[in-house]
Amino acid sequence: MTQASPSLELNNGVQLPALGLGVFQSSPEETLLAVETALADGYRLIDTAAAYGNEPEVGEGIRRSGIDRAEIFVTTKLWISDYGYEPALRGFDASLRRLGLDYLDLYLLHQPMPTEFEATVGAYKAAEKLLADGRARAIGVCNHQPEHLEHLISRTEVIPAVNQVEVHPYFTQPELQQAHARHGIATQCWSPLGGVYVYGAADPNAATSPLQDPTIVDLASKYGKTPSQVILRWHLQHGLCAIPKSVRPHRIAENFDVFDFQLTATEIAAIDALDTGRRGGPEPDLINTSTFPFRVEN
Ligand code: NDP
Repeated sequence: MTQASPSLELNNGVQLPALGLGVFQSSPEETLLAVETALADGYRLIDTAAAYGNEPEVGEGIRRSGIDRAEIFVTTKLWISDYGYEPALRGFDASLRRLGLDYLDLYLLHQPMPTEFEATVGAYKAAEKLLADGRARAIGVCNHQPEHLEHLISRTEVIPAVNQVEVHPYFTQPELQQAHARHGIATQCWSPLGGVYVYGAADPNAATSPLQDPTIVDLASKYGKTPSQVILRWHLQHGLCAIPKSVRPHRIAENFDVFDFQLTATEIAAIDALDTGRRGGPEPDLINTSTFPFRVEN
């Protein structure tokens, strides 16, 4: 019997499943299998992006699952090549078309673009219009630091429902999480397992992963669970939303089998203490259309 993921209530009342499937770097074929597998296993949240190149397969996987669309929480993201008000509206239409859906549950701006912030504000205002028109049930951002959030909030009407950011035991971003709490923004954790250390490391030999950390490995052994399950349990018990990515059916199932054990407060504190303060992903202040010239073709 599959257990259901708990949900987090967003600041507009929408329910966000606390555990979902990410599909960054999943090829189109892998994405189709991953989405079908995840939905069969009980996942109800799928996280994609225009920049991932697999929105059609996410949509196809949802249709093949036979599960009512209303039961599935679908997120996609606007890439920076479509920032600005009108381009963002076009980018949203293109994402919906690729997904084969007629609304989104969550629409996110993929990056803050601090050096091109007018375009970011324009894109967010487009997201506000999509929210008002009922085409997105919730809107938010990714990779915003506290100062980016303050800047955006001072220029727009709707407080983001979600900020999707790098959070795993080696990078917990406590100050950012406090800023989220002040504004009622849900923290959605990308690279929840520390995947960015695997694919993003400048020196793969120097890469370390929370999955191999002795504290995590010991807890996994204590509970008869895997390191990945311990890490995801840590996210859930902190009230965070996690979106682990896998293209392997056994890992997709493993990552959702986390509802039958509880870490103690001391164990959670021990995992908190693993924070290195060093991000694995790109520095948000440095992301703009020059440093990331990739364009989404709509
Ligand atoms: P994750 O922390 O989810 O790690 C993914 C990696 O871990 C993959 O290499 C995967 O390999 C492996 N893995 C998955 N499950 C297990 C397991 N149980 N045991 C061992 N290894 C495992 O990293 P991601 O960076 O992919 O982040 C997750 C999602 O977050 C993305 O897919 C995307 O949706 C989102 N994201 C958003 C970003 C943003 O800027 N907004 C940036 C980056 C990610 P395999 O597939 O072979 O199983």
